[in-house]
Amino acid sequence: MSIEAMSAVLHHSQAGGSTKLVLIGIANHQGDAGAWPAISTLARYANVSERQAQRAIRQLEELGEIKVDYQAPEMLKRTNRYWVTVRCPKECDGTTQHRVGVTSMTRKGDTDDTPRVTPMTPEPLSEPTEKPMLQKPTRIPETFVITDDMRHWAKETVPDVQIDFETESFIDYWSAKPNHATKLDWVKTWQVWMRENQKRQTRRGVPKSSRSERNLELLKKIAAEEGKQ
Ligand SMILES: [Zn+2]
Repeated sequence: MSIEAMSAVLHHSQAGGSTKLVLIGIANHQGDAGAWPAISTLARYANVSERQAQRAIRQLEELGEIKVDYQAPEMLKRTNRYWVTVRCPKECDGTTQHRVGVTSMTRKGDTDDTPRVTPMTPEPLSEPTEKPMLQKPTRIPETFVITDDMRHWAKETVPDVQIDFETESFIDYWSAKPNHATKLDWVKTWQVWMRENQKRQTRRGVPKSSRSERNLELLKKIAAEEGKQ
């Protein structure tokens, strides 16, 4: 048996005590075509009686660690043929230490015995409509509108900003901008715009005015803009 296969037996067998010794004894005899150690030999390896060695073989069979080809009773001279079937489990890191459930990055002597379970992300049943991690910046949507939430936010955070007017400006600005006009989060961009507006209003020291006054102000601004064209 190869050193690697023997090593797998030593590290991964579930058997204990003399049963494991019997297994190691079988593994020690195994070639390409199995192993034929006599029960007496296996008993000697494990320092147990032949009856105990027989019991160990049945246990190993139950554990699925060996396969036994029982010879026909008339061939009394022949012994059973065994195959050791212990292999490295999937969780084994495949190193000479045969660490199970830890990553190969874990240094020997680490006391962290927590199994490193890779969290399984359940496969989505259908394509999700939104993939936030894969989202790409986009140009301002043609359908950009002020939602109730946005309006509420504006009322609380930027009370002096004329939201509808500034939103129009915002849309115009970003729609017309030829380059660097893509954003991940247009609502956030809108909020920044509105906050900037609020700051400007505050800096100018524009007193809070009535709606009609603001509208008049707005009409003047628009007229001024139109006059420029
Ligand atoms: Zn292993």
